[in-house]
Amino acid sequence: MSDYKQARDQVLELEEGLRDMPQEVRNVLHPVRLTGKEHFQFRCHPGIACFNACCRNIEIILTPYDLIRIRRRLNLDAESFLYHYATPFTLTKGQLPVPLIRMDPETGQCPFNGPDGCSIYSDRPVACRYYPIGMALMHKQETKDDDEFYFLIKEEFCHGHREVKDWTIQDWRSDQGSDGYDVQNRGWMEFILKRRSAGDGVATAVQLSEFFYMASTNPDVFRRFVFDSSFLKKFHVDPETERLIREDDQALTDFAFSWLKSILFGDAEVKVKPTAVAELKERRANKTVAKENLED
Ligand code: SF4
Ligand code: SF4
Repeated sequence: MSDYKQARDQVLELEEGLRDMPQEVRNVLHPVRLTGKEHFQFRCHPGIACFNACCRNIEIILTPYDLIRIRRRLNLDAESFLYHYATPFTLTKGQLPVPLIRMDPETGQCPFNGPDGCSIYSDRPVACRYYPIGMALMHKQETKDDDEFYFLIKEEFCHGHREVKDWTIQDWRSDQGSDGYDVQNRGWMEFILKRRSAGDGVATAVQLSEFFYMASTNPDVFRRFVFDSSFLKKFHVDPETERLIREDDQALTDFAFSWLKSILFGDAEVKVKPTAVAELKERRANKTVAKENLED
């Protein structure tokens, strides 16, 4: 492939991977695709002139694992957290709803930002951990693989780029704890990618969007849906998984995205029970007979 074509394809891919980024972020990112081994210079510390400048007027998507960590830290149930700190936002491609941190409408400040910096620092969201690196994840139709790459965000107000401290992107991710978050959010990210690459061929029913938002944000409600409905009569859940999802929000979240992938894309991760299939067939047959009787 010629250098020109390679560069053009990379920019197109980068554009595609960044569709959901706010325009102001897209304007300041360096349109260069980076690997985990590449180097950049950056240092952020409380004595820097721009301290806290990056924590206002931004769109920060909260991933399921961000929510689990922050809720645990604030000792809040999902509903209270969403009510006080989040606002829903629909991703452009795929039309899936995600929560954003709700910035103060008057000052534009993040509600977790204070004079001493981030008040939830050790539980801050993965987007804040990555900054000033952005990550783009793409699903390759040809190979069915996910392709991950990075780019640098250079905003005028951020003096961290003027400091002399060398990092590889991989070292930065480890230092900030982003890689651990990506592992926990894998099911959520895979679902979004699959939904995007499926295009308009797969309709996102309103109910599916609601289930996706529930699975992403509210394990308490999703747990009630599993255990207080006919769910366990319809879907096969092995006893160990059942035990885990009763107690553990992260296990429940992973299970929720496996289930959503099964019903939307036909992945075989959560199977329908044969008895449920037989019952469904019987119900359909009974309906047909009833309809025929009415028409006679
Ligand atoms: S969560 Fe913390 S680091 Fe992230 S924007 Fe808010 S104050 Fe800043
Ligand atoms: S150096 Fe950049 S990341 Fe650090 S406080 Fe300043 S603006 Fe924020």
